Amino acid sequence: NGELALAELDSSKLKVTITNSPKPYYRPETSQWGRADATTDHWITVRWTDTVGWHAPELRPYTRMDLWPTASCLHYATECFEGLKAYRGYDGKIRLFRPSRNTARLLVSSTRISCPGFSPSAMEELIKALLSVDAEKWLPEPGTFIYIRPTMIGAGRALGVQKPREAFFYIIMALFPKLDNPMKLLASSEDSIRAWPGGFGYAKVGANYGPSLMAQKEAQIRGYDQILWLFGPDASVTEAGASNFFCIIRSKVTGKLELITAPLDDKIILDGVTRRSVLELARERLADELEVVERKYTMADLASAHDEGRLVEAFAAGTAFFVAPVTRIHFRGKDIVPTKTDGEETYTNTIKQWLAQIMYGKVEHEWAVVV
Ligand code: PMP
Repeated sequence: NGELALAELDSSKLKVTITNSPKPYYRPETSQWGRADATTDHWITVRWTDTVGWHAPELRPYTRMDLWPTASCLHYATECFEGLKAYRGYDGKIRLFRPSRNTARLLVSSTRISCPGFSPSAMEELIKALLSVDAEKWLPEPGTFIYIRPTMIGAGRALGVQKPREAFFYIIMALFPKLDNPMKLLASSEDSIRAWPGGFGYAKVGANYGPSLMAQKEAQIRGYDQILWLFGPDASVTEAGASNFFCIIRSKVTGKLELITAPLDDKIILDGVTRRSVLELARERLADELEVVERKYTMADLASAHDEGRLVEAFAAGTAFFVAPVTRIHFRGKDIVPTKTDGEETYTNTIKQWLAQIMYGKVEHEWAVVV
Protein backbone atom coordinates (compact mmCIF):
# COMPACT_ATOMS: atom_id res chain seq x y z
CA ASN A 1 0.00 0.00 0.00
CA GLY A 2 3.01 2.26 -0.50
CA GLU A 3 3.69 2.68 3.24
CA LEU A 4 7.24 2.14 4.39
CA ALA A 5 7.74 -0.83 6.65
CA LEU A 6 8.29 0.19 10.26
CA ALA A 7 11.78 -0.40 11.68
CA GLU A 8 12.24 -3.50 13.85
CA LEU A 9 13.79 -3.37 17.28
CA ASP A 10 17.50 -3.75 16.52
CA SER A 11 19.91 -4.30 19.41
CA SER A 12 22.95 -3.95 17.13
CA LYS A 13 22.15 -0.22 16.78
CA LEU A 14 22.68 0.36 20.52
CA LYS A 15 24.31 3.73 21.31
CA VAL A 16 26.28 3.66 24.55
CA THR A 17 26.94 6.62 26.87
CA ILE A 18 28.67 5.87 30.17
CA THR A 19 27.92 7.97 33.27
CA ASN A 20 30.38 10.51 34.69
CA SER A 21 28.84 10.31 38.13
CA PRO A 22 28.48 6.69 39.24
CA LYS A 23 26.43 6.02 42.40
CA PRO A 24 27.89 4.40 45.51
CA TYR A 25 27.27 0.65 45.77
CA TYR A 26 25.33 -0.55 48.80
CA ARG A 27 24.43 -4.01 49.98
CA PRO A 28 20.66 -4.60 49.76
CA GLU A 29 19.28 -5.42 53.23
CA THR A 30 15.72 -6.52 53.88
CA SER A 31 15.08 -3.30 55.78
CA GLN A 32 15.81 -1.39 52.59
CA TRP A 33 12.95 -2.99 50.67
CA GLY A 34 11.19 -0.20 48.86
CA ARG A 35 14.06 2.29 49.04
CA ALA A 36 13.78 4.96 46.38
CA ASP A 37 17.24 5.00 44.85
CA ALA A 38 17.84 1.28 44.39
CA THR A 39 18.55 1.52 40.66
CA THR A 40 21.95 1.06 39.04
CA ASP A 41 24.03 3.57 37.07
CA HIS A 42 22.56 3.03 33.61
CA TRP A 43 19.36 2.20 31.80
CA ILE A 44 18.35 1.31 28.29
CA THR A 45 15.73 3.35 26.46
CA VAL A 46 14.09 2.90 23.07
CA ARG A 47 11.44 5.07 21.41
CA TRP A 48 8.79 3.72 19.10
CA THR A 49 6.70 5.91 16.82
CA ASP A 50 4.04 4.86 14.36
CA THR A 51 5.92 6.61 11.55
CA VAL A 52 9.41 5.14 12.10
CA GLY A 53 8.81 2.04 14.21
CA TRP A 54 11.62 1.29 16.65
CA HIS A 55 14.29 3.98 16.94
CA ALA A 56 17.89 3.13 17.84
CA PRO A 57 18.21 1.85 21.42
CA GLU A 58 20.36 3.79 23.85
CA LEU A 59 22.27 2.72 26.93
CA ARG A 60 22.79 5.82 29.02
CA PRO A 61 23.15 7.25 32.53
CA TYR A 62 20.06 6.57 34.64
CA THR A 63 17.96 9.68 35.01
CA ARG A 64 14.41 11.02 35.20
CA MET A 65 12.33 10.87 32.09
CA ASP A 66 10.32 13.31 30.11
CA LEU A 67 6.64 12.68 29.34
CA TRP A 68 3.79 14.91 28.22
CA PRO A 69 1.07 15.19 30.86
CA THR A 70 -1.29 13.78 28.23
CA ALA A 71 0.83 10.62 27.70
CA SER A 72 -1.38 7.59 27.11
CA CYS A 73 0.08 5.53 29.97
CA LEU A 74 -0.85 8.18 32.54
CA HIS A 75 -4.52 8.12 31.54
CA TYR A 76 -5.36 4.76 30.03
CA ALA A 77 -2.96 2.36 31.77
CA THR A 78 -1.06 1.52 28.60
CA GLU A 79 1.77 0.14 30.70
CA CYS A 80 3.23 -3.32 31.06
CA PHE A 81 6.43 -4.68 32.51
CA GLU A 82 8.55 -7.70 33.28
CA GLY A 83 10.55 -8.83 36.27
CA LEU A 84 13.52 -11.13 36.10
CA LYS A 85 16.81 -11.47 37.89
CA ALA A 86 20.45 -11.88 36.99
CA TYR A 87 22.48 -14.04 39.35
CA ARG A 88 26.22 -13.99 40.14
CA GLY A 89 27.14 -17.66 40.20
CA TYR A 90 29.64 -19.37 42.45
CA ASP A 91 31.90 -19.63 39.40
CA GLY A 92 31.80 -15.83 39.03
CA LYS A 93 29.63 -15.92 35.90
CA ILE A 94 26.43 -13.91 35.48
CA ARG A 95 23.32 -15.85 34.49
CA LEU A 96 19.77 -15.00 33.50
CA PHE A 97 17.04 -17.53 34.30
CA ARG A 98 14.90 -18.43 31.24
CA PRO A 99 14.92 -14.83 29.93
CA SER A 100 13.14 -15.82 26.73
CA ARG A 101 10.08 -16.60 28.87
CA ASN A 102 10.04 -13.02 30.13
CA THR A 103 10.55 -11.41 26.73
CA ALA A 104 7.79 -13.58 25.24
CA ARG A 105 5.47 -12.69 28.11
CA LEU A 106 6.21 -8.99 27.66
CA LEU A 107 5.11 -9.32 24.05
CA VAL A 108 1.83 -10.89 25.22
CA SER A 109 1.32 -8.06 27.72
CA SER A 110 2.25 -5.31 25.25
CA THR A 111 -0.18 -6.70 22.69
CA ARG A 112 -2.98 -6.77 25.29
CA ILE A 113 -2.69 -3.00 25.80
CA SER A 114 -2.12 -2.07 22.13
CA CYS A 115 1.53 -1.17 22.63
CA PRO A 116 3.99 -2.17 19.90
CA GLY A 117 5.38 -5.60 19.17
CA PHE A 118 9.09 -6.35 19.02
CA SER A 119 11.55 -9.15 18.53
CA PRO A 120 11.89 -10.94 21.89
CA SER A 121 15.45 -11.96 21.08
CA ALA A 122 16.44 -8.31 20.39
CA MET A 123 15.02 -7.48 23.79
CA GLU A 124 17.06 -10.22 25.42
CA GLU A 125 20.18 -8.79 23.77
CA LEU A 126 19.40 -5.38 25.28
CA ILE A 127 19.06 -6.91 28.75
CA LYS A 128 22.46 -8.54 28.30
CA ALA A 129 23.96 -5.25 27.07
CA LEU A 130 22.83 -3.47 30.25
CA LEU A 131 24.27 -6.24 32.38
CA SER A 132 27.56 -6.11 30.50
CA VAL A 133 27.94 -2.49 31.71
CA ASP A 134 26.42 -2.60 35.21
CA ALA A 135 26.82 -6.17 36.49
CA GLU A 136 30.48 -5.89 37.41
CA LYS A 137 29.83 -3.27 40.07
CA TRP A 138 26.28 -4.13 41.14
CA LEU A 139 26.71 -7.90 41.39
CA PRO A 140 29.99 -7.98 43.27
CA GLU A 141 29.87 -11.37 44.95
CA PRO A 142 28.85 -14.93 44.17
CA GLY A 143 25.39 -15.65 45.53
CA THR A 144 24.02 -12.15 44.82
CA PHE A 145 21.32 -11.20 42.33
CA ILE A 146 19.90 -8.08 40.75
CA TYR A 147 16.32 -7.41 39.69
CA ILE A 148 15.71 -6.37 36.08
CA ARG A 149 12.59 -4.46 35.11
CA PRO A 150 11.86 -4.08 31.37
CA THR A 151 8.95 -1.64 30.96
CA MET A 152 6.75 -0.58 28.04
CA ILE A 153 4.58 2.52 28.16
CA GLY A 154 2.22 4.19 25.73
CA ALA A 155 3.76 7.65 25.33
CA GLY A 156 1.51 9.11 22.62
CA ARG A 157 0.48 12.74 23.27
CA ALA A 158 -3.07 12.57 22.00
CA LEU A 159 -5.59 12.81 24.80
CA GLY A 160 -8.34 10.90 22.99
CA VAL A 161 -8.77 7.25 23.92
CA GLN A 162 -6.87 5.51 21.15
CA LYS A 163 -4.06 3.10 20.45
CA PRO A 164 -0.84 4.97 21.37
CA ARG A 165 0.99 6.38 18.36
CA GLU A 166 4.19 6.54 20.36
CA ALA A 167 5.66 4.20 22.92
CA PHE A 168 8.70 4.16 25.13
CA PHE A 169 10.46 1.01 26.19
CA TYR A 170 13.11 0.93 28.89
CA ILE A 171 15.10 -1.47 31.03
CA ILE A 172 16.18 -0.57 34.53
CA MET A 173 17.91 -2.67 37.17
CA ALA A 174 17.53 -2.39 40.92
CA LEU A 175 19.08 -3.95 43.99
CA PHE A 176 16.50 -6.01 45.77
CA PRO A 177 16.80 -7.80 49.11
CA LYS A 178 16.08 -11.52 49.51
CA LEU A 179 12.36 -11.92 50.25
CA ASP A 180 11.97 -15.68 50.46
CA ASN A 181 10.90 -15.80 54.11
CA PRO A 182 7.94 -17.97 55.15
CA MET A 183 4.67 -16.15 54.52
CA LYS A 184 1.18 -15.93 55.95
CA LEU A 185 -1.65 -15.36 53.52
CA LEU A 186 -5.01 -13.66 53.91
CA ALA A 187 -7.60 -15.05 51.48
CA SER A 188 -9.22 -12.27 49.47
CA SER A 189 -12.76 -11.19 50.36
CA GLU A 190 -15.68 -11.49 47.92
CA ASP A 191 -15.56 -7.79 47.06
CA SER A 192 -11.93 -7.88 45.99
CA ILE A 193 -11.26 -9.73 42.74
CA ARG A 194 -7.86 -9.57 41.06
CA ALA A 195 -8.80 -10.88 37.63
CA TRP A 196 -11.73 -12.44 35.76
CA PRO A 197 -12.28 -14.41 32.54
CA GLY A 198 -12.19 -12.09 29.56
CA GLY A 199 -10.01 -9.63 31.47
CA PHE A 200 -6.24 -9.33 31.59
CA GLY A 201 -5.02 -11.31 34.60
CA TYR A 202 -2.66 -13.28 32.32
CA ALA A 203 -0.86 -10.07 31.27
CA LYS A 204 1.74 -8.33 33.36
CA VAL A 205 0.08 -4.93 33.01
CA GLY A 206 0.26 -2.23 35.68
CA ALA A 207 -3.55 -2.17 35.74
CA ASN A 208 -3.44 -5.51 37.59
CA TYR A 209 -1.33 -4.15 40.43
CA GLY A 210 -2.54 -0.67 41.49
CA PRO A 211 -6.05 -1.95 42.32
CA SER A 212 -4.60 -4.83 44.37
CA LEU A 213 -2.84 -2.55 46.85
CA MET A 214 -5.90 -1.84 48.98
CA ALA A 215 -6.29 -5.54 49.76
CA GLN A 216 -2.52 -5.90 50.23
CA LYS A 217 -2.53 -3.07 52.79
CA GLU A 218 -5.45 -4.65 54.65
CA ALA A 219 -3.53 -7.94 54.78
CA GLN A 220 -0.49 -6.22 56.26
CA ILE A 221 -2.54 -4.36 58.86
CA ARG A 222 -3.98 -7.70 59.94
CA GLY A 223 -0.53 -9.29 60.20
CA TYR A 224 -0.40 -11.19 56.91
CA ASP A 225 2.21 -10.90 54.19
CA GLN A 226 0.22 -11.32 50.99
CA ILE A 227 -3.30 -11.85 49.66
CA LEU A 228 -4.33 -15.28 48.43
CA TRP A 229 -6.49 -14.29 45.46
CA LEU A 230 -9.72 -16.27 45.14
CA PHE A 231 -12.18 -16.28 42.29
CA GLY A 232 -15.86 -16.99 41.91
CA PRO A 233 -18.70 -18.07 44.20
CA ASP A 234 -16.94 -21.34 45.01
CA ALA A 235 -13.79 -19.44 46.10
CA SER A 236 -11.37 -21.16 43.76
CA VAL A 237 -7.72 -20.56 44.58
CA THR A 238 -5.72 -18.60 41.98
CA GLU A 239 -2.45 -16.93 43.01
CA ALA A 240 -0.76 -15.34 46.02
CA GLY A 241 0.25 -11.67 45.88
CA ALA A 242 2.64 -11.34 42.94
CA SER A 243 3.44 -15.04 42.90
CA ASN A 244 1.82 -18.29 41.91
CA PHE A 245 0.49 -20.57 44.64
CA PHE A 246 1.07 -24.29 45.13
CA CYS A 247 -0.07 -26.81 47.69
CA ILE A 248 0.79 -30.42 48.38
CA ILE A 249 -2.23 -32.47 49.39
CA ARG A 250 -2.62 -36.18 50.06
CA SER A 251 -5.43 -37.32 47.79
CA LYS A 252 -8.45 -38.76 49.57
CA VAL A 253 -9.11 -41.00 46.57
CA THR A 254 -5.66 -42.41 45.71
CA GLY A 255 -3.82 -41.76 48.98
CA LYS A 256 -1.01 -40.26 46.91
CA LEU A 257 0.60 -36.87 47.35
CA GLU A 258 -0.41 -34.27 44.77
CA LEU A 259 1.38 -31.04 43.94
CA ILE A 260 -1.50 -28.80 42.90
CA THR A 261 -1.63 -25.38 41.30
CA ALA A 262 -4.40 -23.52 39.46
CA PRO A 263 -4.49 -23.93 35.64
CA LEU A 264 -3.85 -21.16 33.10
CA ASP A 265 -6.85 -21.83 30.84
CA ASP A 266 -9.20 -19.13 32.16
CA LYS A 267 -6.44 -16.58 31.50
CA ILE A 268 -6.90 -15.07 34.95
CA ILE A 269 -3.49 -16.18 36.25
CA LEU A 270 -0.01 -15.04 35.28
CA ASP A 271 2.00 -17.72 33.47
CA GLY A 272 4.85 -17.46 35.97
CA VAL A 273 8.33 -18.46 34.90
CA THR A 274 8.93 -19.88 38.37
CA ARG A 275 5.55 -21.69 38.27
CA ARG A 276 6.43 -23.33 34.98
CA SER A 277 9.88 -24.29 36.27
CA VAL A 278 8.48 -25.78 39.50
CA LEU A 279 6.01 -27.87 37.50
CA GLU A 280 8.65 -29.05 35.03
CA LEU A 281 11.19 -29.97 37.71
CA ALA A 282 8.59 -31.77 39.82
CA ARG A 283 7.33 -33.75 36.81
CA GLU A 284 10.88 -34.66 35.86
CA ARG A 285 12.40 -35.41 39.25
CA LEU A 286 9.59 -36.19 41.68
CA ALA A 287 7.29 -38.28 39.52
CA ASP A 288 7.63 -41.30 41.82
CA GLU A 289 6.52 -39.33 44.86
CA LEU A 290 4.22 -36.59 43.65
CA GLU A 291 1.41 -36.39 41.13
CA VAL A 292 1.73 -32.97 39.51
CA VAL A 293 -1.66 -31.46 38.72
CA GLU A 294 -2.80 -28.17 37.23
CA ARG A 295 -6.46 -27.98 38.06
CA LYS A 296 -9.13 -25.84 39.54
CA TYR A 297 -9.48 -26.29 43.32
CA THR A 298 -11.29 -24.33 45.98
CA MET A 299 -10.88 -23.06 49.51
CA ALA A 300 -13.31 -25.80 50.56
CA ASP A 301 -10.84 -28.38 49.16
CA LEU A 302 -8.00 -26.74 51.11
CA ALA A 303 -10.07 -26.51 54.28
CA SER A 304 -11.17 -30.15 54.21
CA ALA A 305 -7.62 -31.29 53.43
CA HIS A 306 -6.48 -29.28 56.44
CA ASP A 307 -9.22 -30.68 58.72
CA GLU A 308 -8.34 -34.23 57.69
CA GLY A 309 -4.58 -33.73 58.07
CA ARG A 310 -3.98 -34.09 54.32
CA LEU A 311 -2.66 -30.58 53.61
CA VAL A 312 1.05 -31.26 53.80
CA GLU A 313 2.77 -28.17 52.35
CA ALA A 314 1.96 -24.88 50.63
CA PHE A 315 4.24 -22.36 48.98
CA ALA A 316 4.31 -19.25 46.82
CA ALA A 317 6.61 -19.15 43.79
CA GLY A 318 7.72 -16.14 41.76
CA THR A 319 10.77 -14.11 40.84
CA ALA A 320 10.52 -11.63 43.73
CA PHE A 321 9.64 -14.00 46.59
CA PHE A 322 11.36 -16.99 44.95
CA VAL A 323 9.99 -20.12 46.68
CA ALA A 324 8.47 -19.10 50.00
CA PRO A 325 6.80 -21.62 52.31
CA VAL A 326 3.28 -20.62 53.34
CA THR A 327 2.78 -21.21 57.04
CA ARG A 328 -0.84 -20.09 57.41
CA ILE A 329 -3.85 -19.10 55.33
CA HIS A 330 -6.72 -17.19 56.88
CA PHE A 331 -10.11 -17.69 55.26
CA ARG A 332 -13.42 -16.43 56.68
CA GLY A 333 -12.48 -16.68 60.33
CA LYS A 334 -10.59 -19.92 60.03
CA ASP A 335 -6.85 -20.65 59.92
CA ILE A 336 -5.58 -23.26 57.50
CA VAL A 337 -2.14 -24.52 58.39
CA PRO A 338 -0.12 -27.11 56.45
CA THR A 339 1.34 -29.94 58.52
CA LYS A 340 4.88 -29.14 57.35
CA THR A 341 5.68 -25.47 57.39
CA ASP A 342 9.38 -25.34 57.94
CA GLY A 343 12.63 -27.18 57.89
CA GLU A 344 14.80 -28.84 55.32
CA GLU A 345 12.71 -31.94 54.87
CA THR A 346 10.06 -30.47 52.63
CA TYR A 347 9.36 -30.67 48.92
CA THR A 348 9.15 -26.87 49.01
CA ASN A 349 12.76 -26.70 50.12
CA THR A 350 13.92 -29.40 47.72
CA ILE A 351 12.43 -27.57 44.73
CA LYS A 352 13.80 -24.26 45.94
CA GLN A 353 17.32 -25.70 46.24
CA TRP A 354 17.12 -27.23 42.77
CA LEU A 355 16.15 -23.89 41.27
CA ALA A 356 18.88 -22.05 43.19
CA GLN A 357 21.48 -24.56 41.96
CA ILE A 358 20.50 -23.77 38.37
CA MET A 359 20.37 -19.99 38.90
CA TYR A 360 23.75 -19.80 40.62
CA GLY A 361 25.43 -22.23 38.24
CA LYS A 362 26.05 -25.03 40.74
CA VAL A 363 24.66 -27.37 38.12
CA GLU A 364 24.63 -26.88 34.36
CA HIS A 365 21.14 -26.40 32.99
CA GLU A 366 19.70 -25.04 29.75
CA TRP A 367 17.45 -22.64 31.69
CA ALA A 368 20.48 -20.68 32.92
CA VAL A 369 21.73 -18.32 30.22
CA VAL A 370 25.28 -17.10 30.79
CA VAL A 371 25.63 -13.39 29.94
N1 PMP B 1 1.65 -13.87 39.55
C1 PMP B 1 1.72 -12.53 39.50
C2 PMP B 1 0.45 -11.75 39.57
C3 PMP B 1 2.96 -11.88 39.39
O1 PMP B 1 3.03 -10.55 39.35
C4 PMP B 1 4.13 -12.66 39.33
C5 PMP B 1 5.47 -11.99 39.22
N2 PMP B 1 5.83 -11.77 37.87
C6 PMP B 1 4.02 -14.06 39.37
C7 PMP B 1 2.76 -14.62 39.49
C8 PMP B 1 5.22 -14.95 39.28
O2 PMP B 1 5.77 -14.92 37.99
P1 PMP B 1 7.31 -15.18 37.76
O3 PMP B 1 7.60 -16.52 38.33
O4 PMP B 1 7.49 -15.13 36.29
O5 PMP B 1 8.03 -14.10 38.46
